[in-house]
Amino acid sequence: MTNYTNLLERDRDYVWHPYSATNSNQAIFPVQSAQGVRIKLADGRELIDGMSSWWSAIHGYNHPVMNQAISNQLGDMSHIMFGGLTHQPAVDLAELLVKITPPSLKKVFFVDSGSVAVEVAMKMAIQYWYAKDQPQKQKMLTISHGYHGDTFGAMSVSDPVNGMHSLFSDTLAQQFFADTPSCKFNQPCTDKDISSLQDQLENNHQHIAALILEPIVQGAGGMRFYSPDYLKQARKLCDQYNVLLILDEIATGFGRTGKLFACEHAAIEPDILCVGKALTGGYMTLAATLTTPAIAQTISEGEPGVFMHGPTFMANPLACSAGLASLNLLLNSPWQDRITQIQQLLSTGLEQCKDFPHVKEVRILGAIGVVELHQAVDMQTIQPQFVEAGVWVRPFNRLIYLMPPYIIDKDDLNFLINAVVSIISNIKD
Ligand SMILES: *Cc1c(COP(=O)(O)O)cnc(C)c1O
Repeated sequence: MTNYTNLLERDRDYVWHPYSATNSNQAIFPVQSAQGVRIKLADGRELIDGMSSWWSAIHGYNHPVMNQAISNQLGDMSHIMFGGLTHQPAVDLAELLVKITPPSLKKVFFVDSGSVAVEVAMKMAIQYWYAKDQPQKQKMLTISHGYHGDTFGAMSVSDPVNGMHSLFSDTLAQQFFADTPSCKFNQPCTDKDISSLQDQLENNHQHIAALILEPIVQGAGGMRFYSPDYLKQARKLCDQYNVLLILDEIATGFGRTGKLFACEHAAIEPDILCVGKALTGGYMTLAATLTTPAIAQTISEGEPGVFMHGPTFMANPLACSAGLASLNLLLNSPWQDRITQIQQLLSTGLEQCKDFPHVKEVRILGAIGVVELHQAVDMQTIQPQFVEAGVWVRPFNRLIYLMPPYIIDKDDLNFLINAVVSIISNIKD
């Protein structure tokens, strides 16, 4: 049995956690193990997982099929460089990704994390226009309230306020921002909703290499859902103004919104697609950027004749074998039915929160449930309350949200939802 107190002390002494201060007195919980939808803390308590470890653990934890795939690959090799060498897990996974993503995407570039997939997507767009003799097209266009990652390029297209752009002003690339659409998921997109994006394209298209968007669901920038109609119109405008469309499906990909990819809600295809997070079922870090043969060929035939990127751990074989196992598990499961059932239970359960005066809005899409409050939550009090109630939920700012593993059963999901509703009902304004 791990010495709980000692581990916490050494954690405080040596370790820096995401978006945190090293002198923070916020509670932190040592995990012993995780199995299915249950996270077992070092003190023996079990929590039902409402977060899928940030969108990724869609099959739950410690899945025998995933474990076997990785252990088989471990016997062959855990890593080998990808310059000048290739291997079956990478080729199989690339082929499968090409098969299940929108049909025009046929080339796969593997990277180590979502943020890097976004960097690679932006570099592809810039190199494409450079090869087409349009080197002035170097800027990105995006909408407010987005989130695309924590590296500098990805930060530059994330929300300027949430991302504290002022802090990094001398270092961060200046991009073009349009207003986030106000049309909700089930609403049509009006001229007013699209006008800001249209104006930016009209005025600046000569300098814009690509429009980058999270399709339908804006994740860490505010958990907002917008109309597929907006995405359709954005696609049309990109074609009209000679701007590439990059879709960042790192959060939405692999079924989370009820479609395998969120762009399917709008029946459109991007020129460049980023996937990550659930790609390996939460087992290993891996992401990928996909593009069309035309873009790949233009880049390859232009100056400098190669694509200027190549991470050390590109297409790591363990990660690729985890990706393959995860995708096959997903595709051979009744995932649509599972997402529909999760959506229904989230809807009936979380709707109760609408009546609380401190709740601004409740929104559900696929296996995502969001309760937006009027005020930011006090993490120091609310996080231990969730743990006491036997659930793992990690709110941010005014948002308490659930995105459980797809394999969660009805009883566990209802337990999770009831715990969350009860804690929200007790929040004092
Ligand atoms: C999480 C996320 C990223 C960044 O991925 P990392 O693996 O954390 O670098 C990029 N885009 C979206 C939409 C995300 O949700």
